Amino acid sequence: MRTIGLEEHFVTPELEQYGAPAAAILQPDKWREASRRLLDITGARLAEMDAAGLDMQVLSLNSPGIQAESDAATAVARAAAVNDLLAGVIADHPDRFAGLAALPLQDPKTAADELERAVRELGMCGALVNAHTQGRYLDHPELRVVWERAAGLGVPLYLHPANGVDVPHVIAGHPELVGPMWSWGAETATHFLRCVFGGVFDDFPDARMLLGHMGEGLPYVLWRLDSRWDYHNHQGVELARGNPSEYLRHNLYITTSGVCSPAPLLCALLTLGSDHILFGTDYPFEDMAAATGFLRSAPISDADREKIAHVNAEQLLGL
Ligand code: MN
Repeated sequence: MRTIGLEEHFVTPELEQYGAPAAAILQPDKWREASRRLLDITGARLAEMDAAGLDMQVLSLNSPGIQAESDAATAVARAAAVNDLLAGVIADHPDRFAGLAALPLQDPKTAADELERAVRELGMCGALVNAHTQGRYLDHPELRVVWERAAGLGVPLYLHPANGVDVPHVIAGHPELVGPMWSWGAETATHFLRCVFGGVFDDFPDARMLLGHMGEGLPYVLWRLDSRWDYHNHQGVELARGNPSEYLRHNLYITTSGVCSPAPLLCALLTLGSDHILFGTDYPFEDMAAATGFLRSAPISDADREKIAHVNAEQLLGL
């Protein structure tokens, strides 16, 4: 069974510094090992892919990447450079690697142009955005130009977690809750809902957003979103599609990255459907062979397994 992973990270020595705050969340020995694997794009990684039965990785710059750069001109230059580097890796191994571009969202118009260059000239499949960009989220009016370009090119934006702007009051005093174990998923799900209620998908009805980590919890809440929206004082916000769940079913695609558990996968299948679920490992932060083993043994039909393993990725990313 051809298997394509969509959340597969790398980093370069120049950009590794952006990850220092997130690295502090991990146990030091685990970070050292992850760092070694992030920097090694075409060495041991290929052998690991062979051993795990992962045919292709869709590579993306590790979180927080370019989003953490405070200077817009530096962000523009570094995004272009890392996209060029990634294109070179893909050109050397076109059957093993594809790529999601890094975008300098600090400069929205230039970011839209870079997305178009990355897709048309470098062959990228879309872009991956790590949470907020200097406090700005993807529903911001100035970032509509990026959504417009993505929709025009027919490519998805993958929204990946990173540290938040601040620590929410409810988490203050509990640093153990900050990071991928809890706060990142909650913030990323909320970021997606900002885009729904902020009108992104009403402005661009066929725009597509990918979320990792089995949809960051969203597949579990579809019914309640609609039920409570029906009850809610809408605060002046209306949705063209009527119910919030319509956007989760239409505009949202999720990957299995970092989740090797049948229960949330079955929930996602029942709520979003097998056409909207794609495979990912969250390499190097999760074990690649554990992820492919989970996909092979999950209690789902072989037709759904094929869609998740490769068919949906081939269609959504044009692979
Ligand atoms: Mn990840």
